[in-house]
Amino acid sequence: MPIRPRIDEATAAHNLREIDPPFSPQEAVTEANRCLYCFDAPCIHACPTGIDVPSFIRKIATGQTTGAARTILRANVLGASCARVCPTAELCEGACVMVDREADPIAIGRLQRYATDHVFANDIAVLARGREATGKRVAVVGAGPAGLSCAAELAQLGHEVTVFERKPEAGGLNTYGIAYYKMKPRVSLDEVEMVRGLGVEIRTGVSVGVDVSPELLRDEFDAVFLGVGLGSTRRLGIPGEDLPEVVEALTFIEAIRTRPLGDVAVGERVVVIGCGNTAIDAVTQAKRLGAREATIVYRRGESDMPAYDFEYEIGRIDGAGFVFDAAPIAILDDGTGHVTGIRIVRTRLTAAGTLEFVEGSESVLACDMVIPALGQTKPGEGLRGPWPSLELDERGAIRREFETGRTSVEGLWAGGDAANGGAEVVDAVAEGKRAARDIHRALTNEAAPNLPQSSRSGVPTSPAEAGLAHPVRVSRLEAAWRQRGDVGESETPLGPWPAKRNGGPNHG
Ligand SMILES: Cc1cc2nc3c(=O)[nH]c(=O)nc-3n(C[C@H](O)[C@H](O)[C@H](O)COP(=O)(O)OP(=O)(O)OC[C@H]3O[C@@H](n4cnc5c(N)ncnc54)[C@H](O)[C@@H]3O)c2cc1C
Ligand code: SF4
Repeated sequence: MPIRPRIDEATAAHNLREIDPPFSPQEAVTEANRCLYCFDAPCIHACPTGIDVPSFIRKIATGQTTGAARTILRANVLGASCARVCPTAELCEGACVMVDREADPIAIGRLQRYATDHVFANDIAVLARGREATGKRVAVVGAGPAGLSCAAELAQLGHEVTVFERKPEAGGLNTYGIAYYKMKPRVSLDEVEMVRGLGVEIRTGVSVGVDVSPELLRDEFDAVFLGVGLGSTRRLGIPGEDLPEVVEALTFIEAIRTRPLGDVAVGERVVVIGCGNTAIDAVTQAKRLGAREATIVYRRGESDMPAYDFEYEIGRIDGAGFVFDAAPIAILDDGTGHVTGIRIVRTRLTAAGTLEFVEGSESVLACDMVIPALGQTKPGEGLRGPWPSLELDERGAIRREFETGRTSVEGLWAGGDAANGGAEVVDAVAEGKRAARDIHRALTNEAAPNLPQSSRSGVPTSPAEAGLAHPVRVSRLEAAWRQRGDVGESETPLGPWPAKRNGGPNHG
């Protein structure tokens, strides 16, 4: 049987609501007051973008929410999405000294969300285009987290930036790939608008190498940043893979993020192949969209699975099944071309550490939908055509200097998944920012100014030293916001959003 939507729009929206509800103002201030404002703040060092965590938390505690958001967004322009999608237990919250005291870590992610929601919901522009124009032009390929971060940093340093993005919308996987219950697409689209607001031109629907040649970028721009992400998704390589109810995980998740939730087709009994974070996202969303059963099949054991513990826990809470030490060998159909099951075989480790199939252990799992979640290939050779002398590492990712993003090609920088081989959003943001600062140095012969976080970096002696011709005065932004009336209805290319109202975040 073909698969179909199983629940109505309202039920799907309820099931896929963001898992962490926003803090109320009182909850935020109470939580912020738990922070010890540590001198050596390990939470800052654990954040790849180096957000001054205690500073922004202190600002929330004293009612300066706009200032808190500025502290966050100046260090990490995608601070609103990172507040939702970062594995905080592995990063800032995992490093919080409260953990050593056997207390709950400070809820840094939720506090970050509280502050950034405030400025997005109320259209308060806390970032500004910086300095006088340098007259330098930079092309950014890919409008994912790495490209957007690089573009925003460059714009704040006074450069003219054009971003080329092949998809209809910017945002990369933040717009198209993150699990809906972690972050709605409009949070990502809000961030894209903020980057546009810094004067960055974002040309969507333009694929570099197809619509625009790399030679044109080299001739018309002073520098180029590659933030193209990973390559195509891996295939299973087994019979039945092309049946219509075999839907690759990224395609399934993209449908959830771009179509009305009530229109997304899902099977009654779903099998997901793989056990990384993407597999958990797929199995959980299949359950939340009404699948009666959703089961992960993983060729290794429970302790080997690459998904984070907290992701595994989400899957289990949602009632997903797990079949470990089993591999798919064929997808079966009913003779009319529709999936009826998947044949699996037990696996075991050999003494040499490789996997082998256990003879005579084949069985069939009945299902009407299969979601392979095997990950993406590295960008690899595809980049060699446009940039023949670009060096790749042994995995097929772009070889670059970690601290600067410089590649083997003069005038070409790279960062994000395309260079690190696939990590987290916050890593892509950090790499985009670092590359931007090195591009600035290369184009102007000047080091990029320190970020204006006066509490940690010292008070800048002049606006120019802070990188800003017109320094942002948070108190003035807040005063202007309070004097304004309601902000009206806003439309996005992915559909209408509810009107923004003063007095509270509306990302929920
Ligand atoms: C299903 C899934 C779930 C994830 N969940 C999380 C999570 O919960 N938390 C987390 O921190 N991370 C998560 N990640 C990882 C995270 O999304 C990535 O690390 C991050 O998006 C990398 O950013 P990027 O800018 O390097 O690449 P991308 O986000 O992939 O962006 C690259 C952009 O470049 C564009 N592009 C590519 N080639 C061209 C070209 N030739 N011309 C023009 N444009 C081009 C692409 O269309 C894309 O928009 C997830 C990843 C996946 C796949
Ligand atoms: S480590 Fe924890 S308590 Fe210390 S400053 Fe960071 S968030 Fe606050």
